[in-house]
Amino acid sequence: MSRISLTLFFVLTLVCVHGQIFPVDTLLKTGDIRRRINLVFLSDGYQAHEMNTYITDVNRLLTDMFSQVPFKHYRNYFNAFAIKVPSNQSGAKHPRTSSDSDCAPVPQQDVDNYFGSTFDYGNIHRLLVPTKAGTIAVTLANNFPLFDQAFVLVNSPFYGGSGGSVAASSTHSNANEVSIHEIGHSFAGLADEYWAGSAYAFERPNLTQQNNPSLVKWASWVGHAGVGVYPHAEASNWFRPHQNCKMRYLNVPFCDVCNETFVERIHTLVNPIDEYSPRLPVVALANEPLQFSVNYIKPEPNTMSVIWKKDGAVLATNQDAVTVPVASFTTAQAIITATLTDNTALSRSATHTTSHAYVIEWTVTAEAPVTGVKVQTELLKYEVSVFPNPVVKDLQLSYVLPRDARVKVVLEDLSGRQLTSLLDEQQGPGSHSVSVDVSDILKSSGVYVLAFQFDELVTFKRIIKPD
Ligand SMILES: [Zn+2]
Ligand SMILES: [Zn+2]
Repeated sequence: MSRISLTLFFVLTLVCVHGQIFPVDTLLKTGDIRRRINLVFLSDGYQAHEMNTYITDVNRLLTDMFSQVPFKHYRNYFNAFAIKVPSNQSGAKHPRTSSDSDCAPVPQQDVDNYFGSTFDYGNIHRLLVPTKAGTIAVTLANNFPLFDQAFVLVNSPFYGGSGGSVAASSTHSNANEVSIHEIGHSFAGLADEYWAGSAYAFERPNLTQQNNPSLVKWASWVGHAGVGVYPHAEASNWFRPHQNCKMRYLNVPFCDVCNETFVERIHTLVNPIDEYSPRLPVVALANEPLQFSVNYIKPEPNTMSVIWKKDGAVLATNQDAVTVPVASFTTAQAIITATLTDNTALSRSATHTTSHAYVIEWTVTAEAPVTGVKVQTELLKYEVSVFPNPVVKDLQLSYVLPRDARVKVVLEDLSGRQLTSLLDEQQGPGSHSVSVDVSDILKSSGVYVLAFQFDELVTFKRIIKPD
């Protein structure tokens, strides 16, 4: 018996090495991984015997992140996992090739780490980058393909980090603040609010060349809590929204403009409706209570409103359930809707209420005289899925239409810029599936967003093109 176990162990070990399957720890689980934003951490420069330190380091970062605005209000929208990837040696590479003054005090070293994390990237000492992007993509695909944001934590005590499609930071004493700043780049597409150089100067949610306060993209915030239109001292034709934001300095909060960008991104990635009832068609008799309910992800404090309507007339507000007497259904057909909207003060986005209103609809049919009714759900959730992800060539888009709808699918980059329209047509009810060859459309590796619009409602899916 023990011999069989040993043989099995040997085979499993071989599979682990060649299939690159690593242990994954669950650090925060607020819901189903298909219905939450999954933060997925990868270790670099941690040896096998340092995995407990790695988990402690990630937990420290998560505790800090979820104590800060906006994450503390939206903690229930996130899961967090840590893939335990061992390196042969500890730490980060430091070729000592940067000419800036931060470089010289840090010792030169070559390190055999798994994802090739190195300082001095692009000749900037503190730019700490995991250079093996292909290995990161393969590791994610094999171990946690449903990730929304990947983060490489590098076991080095020296200050550094980076915010590409995958965020990275060291474990320096300021690492939590660096990490949260880098997540601003990677997760929300934010720019630095210090001057990072003309190579990084693009229109971003918090960086612009528009200096007219009434035309600037953050016009709705101008005059609130220090938001204005401030020229960069180093490039006076570029403007930032605040003088003291975490995208500029560590250990200060994000400004209103950056917070709004995070909130919009969170709603882009998560539909807050977890469950609703009735889900299947039901028949209710006249003397039975007919209850409708919704179970949704509540921000803390709960800024979501729930409006229940019957044929457009308000039945109740801010209740998770309503009971409607069967006898009150006097017409042949009635529509019950529950509309959920996040009224958070953190967003003043003009498109917020239309883009992020979530509707559940039930059709109630009765025959006169009303002795009972039949209830059917039409959830305007469309059950959108994209497969495979990451994608190289053929992308399959699937969704369910509860009724006729104008369907538009647009590909955007992370900052919300439209790249191309994939679909724009009127379609009938039922399941739909569209295959798109994206090999020419996704020109470079990285993260893209598919915006699905069904009449007035918009929902989003992230896709990734690997290196
Ligand atoms: Zn250096
Ligand atoms: Zn900011």
